[in-house]
Amino acid sequence: MKTGGRIGRIREILRQILYPEGAICLRCGAVSGGECLCPACRRDLRQGDVLESWETREVAGVLAWSIRPHRGVARDLVLALKHRAEARAAGELAALLRQRPAAFPALSPDTVVTWVPMPPGRKRERCIDHGQVLADRVAAELGLSSRALLIRRGNSAPQARLNRAGRERNLRNAYVPGEPIDFPVLLVDDVLTTGTTARRCVEALRAGGAAEITVLTMTRAAG
Ligand SMILES: [Zn+2]
Repeated sequence: MKTGGRIGRIREILRQILYPEGAICLRCGAVSGGECLCPACRRDLRQGDVLESWETREVAGVLAWSIRPHRGVARDLVLALKHRAEARAAGELAALLRQRPAAFPALSPDTVVTWVPMPPGRKRERCIDHGQVLADRVAAELGLSSRALLIRRGNSAPQARLNRAGRERNLRNAYVPGEPIDFPVLLVDDVLTTGTTARRCVEALRAGGAAEITVLTMTRAAG
């Protein structure tokens, strides 16, 4: 038994050397045994009544649901996903959906989960679309399918050269539907701030034919 425990410990040390990104908590740096968060930080994320932290806001005539305020562990997870492409953070955030308020819409099985697409240049730089990673995890959590429904067009003109009306127009056309949409859509994003991005995406989905749209963000910031 003693030898087995020692081998286990050695194996664990080797694993941490080989896979260091999976060995420490992305919030506090404590050894996490391969998990994204250590037990203390996971408790912190789920502390209190998760149901009470849900909020809704109206965006372009649809309800946008946000799970947590944009602070603490939830915020760290969003930033890790966004800036360090930490795919495991998406799983931790999506797991918060296991406690949903009764008023959260019952999404029919043909609902497609989609995301806010990145500008083509940024996607190439990072090699990961964090919006897609999050949408995939949310879809898995809800037993739905996910796919890209929106296309992000590169800005045709540099914003700085446009007047105010031109800028607004330039951004309004940033998202276009990639296919006819005759099914319910769940648009997922990491954080809701002013709601401008979500609004443009909702408008584009509607232009593509979507009649039933729900927005879901992991956190909400004061906007
Ligand atoms: Zn931790």
